[in-house]
Amino acid sequence: MKVLVIGSGSREHALVLALSRDPQVDAVIAAPGNPGIAAIAHTEAVDMNDAAAVTALAETLDVDLVVIGPEAPLVAGVADALRESSFPVFGPSSEAAVLEGSKAFAKEIMESANVPTARAVVAYTPDEAAAALDDFGAPYVVKADGLAAGKGVVVTSDRAEALTHASSCLEVSDRVVIEDYLDGPEVSLFVLCDGQHTLPLAPAQDFKRIGDGDTGPNTGGMGAYSPLLWIPAGTVDDIVTTVAQPVVDEMTRRGTPFVGLLYCGLALTSKGMRVVEFNVRFGDPETQSVLARLRSPLGQTMLAAAEGRLDEVGDLDWDPRTSVTVVMAAENYPSTPRTGDIIRGLNTADDLDDVHILHAGTARATDTGAGFAPEDTVISEDVAETGDIVTAGGRVLSVVSLGNGLDEARAKAYAAVDEVKWDGEQHRTDIAEVAARGQIAVADIYPAP
Ligand code: AMP
Repeated sequence: MKVLVIGSGSREHALVLALSRDPQVDAVIAAPGNPGIAAIAHTEAVDMNDAAAVTALAETLDVDLVVIGPEAPLVAGVADALRESSFPVFGPSSEAAVLEGSKAFAKEIMESANVPTARAVVAYTPDEAAAALDDFGAPYVVKADGLAAGKGVVVTSDRAEALTHASSCLEVSDRVVIEDYLDGPEVSLFVLCDGQHTLPLAPAQDFKRIGDGDTGPNTGGMGAYSPLLWIPAGTVDDIVTTVAQPVVDEMTRRGTPFVGLLYCGLALTSKGMRVVEFNVRFGDPETQSVLARLRSPLGQTMLAAAEGRLDEVGDLDWDPRTSVTVVMAAENYPSTPRTGDIIRGLNTADDLDDVHILHAGTARATDTGAGFAPEDTVISEDVAETGDIVTAGGRVLSVVSLGNGLDEARAKAYAAVDEVKWDGEQHRTDIAEVAARGQIAVADIYPAP
């Protein structure tokens, strides 16, 4: 089996690694990929949001399965074009991808499918937004309606900040979503879907804020760990039966079947589980920790999903160890990250036992204006001469470890983080720390299913 993976982040690096472990996968090609992926697989330059270009590439390479990593190509209809050309695709159609592309649509589906979520209103003017904020009270939750790479949500007790965010959302979209604040710990559950059947992966937790102690602005994600030993027994089955399966059934009923990865982000609140968000693709960085533990063959499982025969796949097999992912980001992320800094210590870190260094915003110093460097990457001439690996984006690397329990997995991940250095590097030092200390008191607030 020959698999084409679309994307260029650490999530795609993790997908390429996991797919390569499947004995039935002979070749993995990534497009466009990144320097870390290029070290373990073939890469092809492509504009991943260009449906015709991606389809032409799949034809040239004659692949048996296409896996689409990020949301933008899904929303742009890349999966639709590939299906029209008869390729098996792991990833939803553009119509089904609206589940992530529009928070308002996701709320509508949840209402139809009777899926528990935060009460929400859609506001169309700053005045309506202000009225809604006063109606809900603090803490305020304000969400942009369109795709925002995980950065469109503001949760704050400051009414002025909430209103400013609502107004700026209304400058780029005709609507903004305001909803109830959900108390309780969050769980991310990835569910494989084939339009009819569902198959859950292992649950994970991610860390969205830039700073230790969940402070500062939201990011695409600064770290994750899996599994969650603190969630009540039966929670995963409960999420599948009360959330994922009803959503899949509702999407099929509407004539837009969901094929791919349904990411269910939930809060386990004092009133029971509530959906915080859906994504229509693997979450980054949870994927890095979830796939590090997967023992079942990923390529065959994704092909079964793409071909509507997920019911033929039994329960998945997992490494019993714990995986921790720490994201290393560039200076000034999440606003305007600085680029072009030489990354040192990559090989030393990657050589450590039970650790993988996955690339995201990296480039070769020689990539100025081409290769893996996005157009806005600034690489000085003297750095370019070195030919080293440099920073070329906000989230630069994911350091992923496996250990016996959270303490060991954290120690291994942070030992590797300590080896890697560049000017202005930032990471959180408290990924999975609260869980490691046993301080997530879910049983007190969450009525076990
Ligand atoms: P979203 O893009 O919807 O996942 O939101 C990003 C993050 O904002 C979530 O992971 C939560 O940490 C937080 N968040 C979103 N909605 C709520 C809510 N209703 N109550 C509390 N926190 C929320």
